[in-house]
Amino acid sequence: MGKPAPSGPSSAIAKASRSGTKKGVRERAIEPWSALLDTGREDGRLVREAREGPGRAKLVEIPPELHPELLAGLERVGIERLYSHQAEAIEAAWQKTTIVTTGTASGKSLCFNLPTLDTLCRDAFARALYLYPTKALAQDQARALNALGLTKQVRPAIYDGDTPRDARAQIRRAANVVLTNPDMLHVGILPHHGSWERLFSHLKVIVVDEAHVYRGVFGSHVANVLRRLLRIAAAYGSDARVLLASATIANPVELAQRLTGLDDVTLIDRDGSPTPRRQIAMWNPPLTDEALGTRRSPLGEAAELLSRLVRDGARAICFMKSRKGVELLARLLTEELERTDPDLAERVAPYRAGYTPQQRRELEARLVRGELRAVVTTDALELGIDIGELDAAVVVTFPGTVAALRQMWGRAGRRGKGLAVYVAGEDALDQFFCRHPDEFLERPVEAAILDHENPQIHQAHLLCAAHEGPLGPEDAEFFGPRWEAHAEALVSAGLLRGRTAAGGQEVYVPRRADDYPAARVSLRSASPDSFAILDLSTGELLGQTEAARAFSTVHQGAIYLHLGRSYEVRELDLDARRALVEPFDGDWYTQPKRETDTTIERLLDRRETLGVTLSFGEVSVTETVLAYQRRRLSDHAQVDLVALDLPETTFSTQALWFELDAESLTKTIPLDVLLGSLHATEHAQIAVLPLLAMCDRWDIGGLSTNLHPQTGRPTIFIYDGHPGGVGLTRQAYERFEELCRDAHRLIAECPCKSGCPSCVQSPKCGNLNEPLSKAGARTLLDALLAAT
Ligand SMILES: [Zn+2]
Ligand SMILES: [Zn+2]
Repeated sequence: MGKPAPSGPSSAIAKASRSGTKKGVRERAIEPWSALLDTGREDGRLVREAREGPGRAKLVEIPPELHPELLAGLERVGIERLYSHQAEAIEAAWQKTTIVTTGTASGKSLCFNLPTLDTLCRDAFARALYLYPTKALAQDQARALNALGLTKQVRPAIYDGDTPRDARAQIRRAANVVLTNPDMLHVGILPHHGSWERLFSHLKVIVVDEAHVYRGVFGSHVANVLRRLLRIAAAYGSDARVLLASATIANPVELAQRLTGLDDVTLIDRDGSPTPRRQIAMWNPPLTDEALGTRRSPLGEAAELLSRLVRDGARAICFMKSRKGVELLARLLTEELERTDPDLAERVAPYRAGYTPQQRRELEARLVRGELRAVVTTDALELGIDIGELDAAVVVTFPGTVAALRQMWGRAGRRGKGLAVYVAGEDALDQFFCRHPDEFLERPVEAAILDHENPQIHQAHLLCAAHEGPLGPEDAEFFGPRWEAHAEALVSAGLLRGRTAAGGQEVYVPRRADDYPAARVSLRSASPDSFAILDLSTGELLGQTEAARAFSTVHQGAIYLHLGRSYEVRELDLDARRALVEPFDGDWYTQPKRETDTTIERLLDRRETLGVTLSFGEVSVTETVLAYQRRRLSDHAQVDLVALDLPETTFSTQALWFELDAESLTKTIPLDVLLGSLHATEHAQIAVLPLLAMCDRWDIGGLSTNLHPQTGRPTIFIYDGHPGGVGLTRQAYERFEELCRDAHRLIAECPCKSGCPSCVQSPKCGNLNEPLSKAGARTLLDALLAAT
């Protein structure tokens, strides 16, 4: 991330020379956001202000041992010195696996580009492979690689689904930096490694940028794809260096280890780039009904904020989670400006995905020149790179992780100063943060969690690997010590068979050599058993959804969100295993009503804590989707309840569960609200789980019962929502005390009377939030925490 590598240090120098302003003058300076913040202070919507920076650049000499051509290239683009972390990264990259986690726009690309370019300058045969999660990012990086003018030594090429067929052979032969994405590597490159001989025989560097994106199900897949990559490279005699870059996360070294399977990792996290003086504002829309806990819509609030900033001369970027939200907000903003300042109304725009690189460049350039004053977009990743210099970054509703929020805020800081705003939504975490602004601002970023040994995911990739070459004892180096047990499971499933290789070694080979298993494995889904989602209006395949989740997400009549767009499911065809959908513009959403059962299959770990028996293990979850509720978007009021007739589904996954003592519980909690208390506790715990592990509450499921047949006691289950699990509930099991503390605060501090979307109500509850007892959950959690 960040601006194109070469412009980093030179602009740093320019900034440093201007920072001689006298301190007193600076404090009193009128910024384009001063008036807005004054208003917020007066009416209490500005719940917290903070400042960070400025931090001065730490510049160091360019290592003179870099190849002379590379040194000349740096000189050509005006880079005279490097940030300290860039020089440290070069040093580390020669030695071993390295991960760089410095801030947004800190010139991270140069950290891996310099060692790569140096290698390519020295060795005409050397090859590098760059992995990017999105096509747009790969395109930007290809441009950055070309910027140094080393056209003779460096021949980058993008190889993805859009690469024309007739260009592919040439890329395989001639490109010495191949930029691709994990999906293409998995399905298009590794299975055909024979035609990539030049790449694999001379592979010196593997770059994994935006590594924090590889978590959860996607990350668990990518961890397997990278293992397959290292295995194939080794088979061709290459020992490639892996260089990773990530946004700031809690566990960068662990993430690098889990993604690659390599132990020895160097962390580069001391940022040597200058940070602007940044004013941070947490903004909470006013309550419209205290008892119900409802607030003014964050969209309306953000439109007001942005129009004010634009009128006062700021250039702003605004981030929202859904595309629908982006469109709505852009419309509100335009309307507001048309009323107050019609000239400006044309100078704000939504940023839509699907722009060509050319269109993106143009939009970014207009933004940087100030012709465009504000752009509203969904995701930092979608937008390109060249917008490092803006006055204000406004993030509307919590983007899911503090790490993402910080990355978005990092866009604010033109001419050494900027405003970073967070506009809270009504969700539990949003309001939790508004009540704990200090802690929120100091909150360490979350951990990125993945589990490459999720049995479904791991075995799918082992089968792919067997097609790429027989699996033998030396594969423990790549797949870990338990690979053979998984291979045996594939033998039992009739997919692999044992064979004695030429040297007498026992190996595993595919039962059917003509099979092509990679085509069946989607990196975005935990299980190959899936339903296709087809857009009837275009005939286009939108994606797949795991069969285990299909009935609750794409049942007939469901409003389905895909990449931020809404669709209505016209038909769920169980035989053809597909959902037919159409774009949807109505003002309701749907929530399924489910009946869920969990069965404990295998206990893996157990401990006594907070007066309860806490367990971790494998469970099977059986679900029947009975009906769905339609609710109005504007006020969440129920429109109707529609019955469904769907078969039950079962999947196995990981879970934590804790058993309570019924006798002591009923002393403080009346029996008639016992279930509601357990249920509300479960909701609150699921709501705060993303504080421990980067995930969405949609990745987690729960079940509470007065009496579980296996435990014989009141029990709360919290399970990984993806078949097999990806490590989320393991993390929650290990940090259960924190989970209870956070859940308790969420409930105890919410100003509502009897439960609201900001505390115990859940937008995904299969029981449609019935029954729930906020008071009972509080008593229950009081008792747990008193037991410490
Ligand atoms: Zn509440
Ligand atoms: Zn529920």
